[in-house]
Amino acid sequence: METRNPVAVSPAKARHRVLELRKELEYHSRQYHVLDNPEITDAEYDHLFRELVDLESAFPELQTADSPTQRVGGEPAANFTKVRHRTPMLSLNNAFSPDEVRDFGARVERAIGKVGGYVCELKIDGLAMSITYTRGQFVRAATRGNGLEGEDVTANVRTIRSVPMTLASVDAGLSDDLEVRGEVYLPKGAFAATNARLEEAGKPGYANPRNAAAGAVRQLDPSVTAARGLQTFMYAIDPPGRIKTQAEVLDTLAALGFRVNPHRQLAGSIDEVLAFLEHWSERRHDLDYDTDGVVIKVASLAEQAEIGTISRAPRWAIAYKFPPEEHETQILDIHVQVGRTGAVTPVAVLEPTLVAGSTVRRCTLHNEDEVARKDVRIGDTVLLHKAGDVIPEIVRVILEKRPRNAKPWQMPDHCPSCDSLLVREQGEVVRRCLNPLCPAQRRELLIHFAARGAMNIEGLGPAVIDQLLDLGYVTEPADLFHVTPEQLLTLEGFAERSATKLVESITSRKRVPLARFINALAIRHVGEHTAETLAAYFGSIDALAAATEEDLLGVEGIGAVVAGHVAAWFASNEGRVVLEHLRAAGVDPERAAGGGGPWSGQTWVITGSLDGMSRNDAEARIRALGGNPTSSVSRKTHAVVVGASPGSKLEKAERLGVRVFDETQFLAELEAAEGSR
Ligand code: NAD
Repeated sequence: METRNPVAVSPAKARHRVLELRKELEYHSRQYHVLDNPEITDAEYDHLFRELVDLESAFPELQTADSPTQRVGGEPAANFTKVRHRTPMLSLNNAFSPDEVRDFGARVERAIGKVGGYVCELKIDGLAMSITYTRGQFVRAATRGNGLEGEDVTANVRTIRSVPMTLASVDAGLSDDLEVRGEVYLPKGAFAATNARLEEAGKPGYANPRNAAAGAVRQLDPSVTAARGLQTFMYAIDPPGRIKTQAEVLDTLAALGFRVNPHRQLAGSIDEVLAFLEHWSERRHDLDYDTDGVVIKVASLAEQAEIGTISRAPRWAIAYKFPPEEHETQILDIHVQVGRTGAVTPVAVLEPTLVAGSTVRRCTLHNEDEVARKDVRIGDTVLLHKAGDVIPEIVRVILEKRPRNAKPWQMPDHCPSCDSLLVREQGEVVRRCLNPLCPAQRRELLIHFAARGAMNIEGLGPAVIDQLLDLGYVTEPADLFHVTPEQLLTLEGFAERSATKLVESITSRKRVPLARFINALAIRHVGEHTAETLAAYFGSIDALAAATEEDLLGVEGIGAVVAGHVAAWFASNEGRVVLEHLRAAGVDPERAAGGGGPWSGQTWVITGSLDGMSRNDAEARIRALGGNPTSSVSRKTHAVVVGASPGSKLEKAERLGVRVFDETQFLAELEAAEGSR
């Protein structure tokens, strides 16, 4: 980071700049914390923030209590009830270089003499959450907000599977009223999927996983939160009872049933801290969540108390931020791409560049407004980074390197694939091709139809689909079921065995769960989760096809936009023809349990023997509530019920942070759900 010498500035200039910076920082802080929609990168924000800190320390007379350097985060949003935190939820001071970490070490030693040691934890790019438990029961969850007051997001946090509803008992002298703090985040895959869905629906995506996680936590409808796939890592307990160190805090949290990040280290000295930073600066790209740094905390809680806290942040901890991974590259061309629902997106073709562990060749420019806002032109040199470590994104154009002949880019009026006029609907940022026969849409539609979350046809990827389309063997989904091994043999890369195998794998998918089938139809705004909701409610494709917009609006979790699109799809000629042809090809989705039980979409695992009922009875009751009893535990498992002499499933559940119920708790859950029907 560039070093400045604010002392060289005159007091009048400093005052002017301080006011300017505060205004700018306040604007960006609101965009980021309240609206979840930042316009600049964190590195740029941190840069401005640091400039203000430097000026305020050089000119103490300019310090004010309401400066962004003294305050935490943003105001709580208006649509949630406000919650006052028992103790303020603070921010962290940042360090941007090993030297600044050394300075931190020197500062704490100056304060208390020799420090017993440090705990290094990965800094997860999520949002801070406070969760309160009374006598071991989950009662409330709140966001950090402005540090003193946050938003009550209890109903939404309840849907996060790794948050235990009941705590395991531990011997640490903990109080009956316990607050646990930690980070709620979106794993990289879920972040990319959320943005892909938003983009396809014509809405802007999130700039980073933290904003995406905040967006998911602040949904007014908890079922939307549930579908986004949030995860947690907890790192603080208040009050700490008999716990003496941060390492014990983390161990106790794990014993209570929370998910705790396994990558932490006790460091005896700042040199050991620096070795940890070095280790993770590259390895972090291998994790399935984004970390933007390492939080270094004085290990002993007594020493922390002695060192104390200033208004905005504790003095016993510091957040080391990894240097931003930004690389220069050149825009070779700008293409437009047609998605399966006709959304047309500009895509930059780049000089291949290595960013965050992989080579980037293309990068979405989202929509025409975004291209205009960033003023990206063919031939420009740009700064590239990966949002959330996964999605390549252009940070900005390096104007000094713009070639003279760079022309502003213009969105075409007509579809690049079928030449139909593109339409931009009111309130949408994307233009769409509305021609149902558009070849580019058909291709995307077929790719989606065969994909994992939809019909899941093994061996049928984009390369095969392209050839099938080119050779005229298929034009719509139903045609796939008529493809013969002989036809496949005329494609590149097929031999007799692979051809027969693919035909078998296509045929085997004539019978799939209803939710998969609904998702495969690629109705706008209907993804995996909505498809599951619709399948559970209507039970059969005929019932869904016959539903009116009003019927659809009656389904919990289905809003006006989705209801409108679903009803319109089944009423449309194209929709009817696609369905009829699939039926004629022998595709017959399994009927779902139907009835839309309170546990629909939840997977339950029972391990060990139950006292009061047989395994079969228990499973039948789960099914009757719409739940799905299975035998293996995964991260997606809703809960594991533990009877007498449980096996390794209990261990696995604990390791994966899946909630665990004993028989009494399970009975209570069953009865409550049955009573709610
Ligand atoms: P911060 O992100 O620097 O760090 C504090 C937060 O770290 C804590 O509140 C907690 O949520 C989190 N954290 C993650 N792992 C942790 C762990 N193991 N232990 C303790 N805490 C952990 O500070 P902040 O106040 O949350 O936000 C300020 C930051 O937000 C800035 O540094 C900037 O990068 C970003 N920001 C960006 C914009 C923008 O426009 N791009 C605007 C405002 C803020």
